[in-house]
Amino acid sequence: MTGSRDTYGGYRARLVEQLRAQGIRDLAVLRAFAATPRHLFVPEAVRHRAYEDTALPIGIGQTISQPFTQARYLETLGLGGKERVLEIGTGSGYQTALLAALAEQVFTIERMRPLAEGAQAALRAAGVTNVSVLVGDGTLGWSAYAPYHAILVAAGGPEIPPPLVEQLAPGGRMIIPLGAKGAQTLTLVRRTAEGIRTAPIGEARFVPLVGEHGFDA
Ligand code: SAH
Repeated sequence: MTGSRDTYGGYRARLVEQLRAQGIRDLAVLRAFAATPRHLFVPEAVRHRAYEDTALPIGIGQTISQPFTQARYLETLGLGGKERVLEIGTGSGYQTALLAALAEQVFTIERMRPLAEGAQAALRAAGVTNVSVLVGDGTLGWSAYAPYHAILVAAGGPEIPPPLVEQLAPGGRMIIPLGAKGAQTLTLVRRTAEGIRTAPIGEARFVPLVGEHGFDA
């Protein structure tokens, strides 16, 4: 996936070691980080910091999330390789690439066209082929390919968008940061035979989820 002229391999290996040292145990998740070239998903100006365990600016006021946070998310989703996954908030496309390494197919929605196009180009450069990108309001979901075994929302909203619940498969899991702008509770939503179960899994700080079932633009 990373090509033969990959000069970042050593930095990437160090990032994986840091994630392991911080408690990430899922081998599939660690392998996804080892195989995904984060430097292709960040702007030129911050490329030298691509393998620091930190959030970085990706333009238009948006950020690529901290790898440790993403690793925790991915562990919580517990993907086994066969799932169809929906992601809201493509951003740089890095998390999309990690999901693509862990699931069968990934559908991702980004409301800002320049970001969606940048992500698509980076995914292509990284050799990722099992991803479809849509420009639009992710709070409406993507009904054409529903239901999804897992849904990952990478922006913080005031409520769980009802269309996303409808598009979650029975037994499926969704992770979404819920709360006010600037401070949210990362929430795990499970669709069980008895209905929807939600559980808080930690504090989070994500950019606002903007859309019909999110905040106003
Ligand atoms: N996980 C990404 C970072 C995402 S930042 C990465 O690895 O780079 C959150 C993204 O959600 C931003 O790009 C923002 O434009 C987008 N976003 C916010 N509200 C949205 C909505 N309703 N639908 C789709 N994308 C949305």
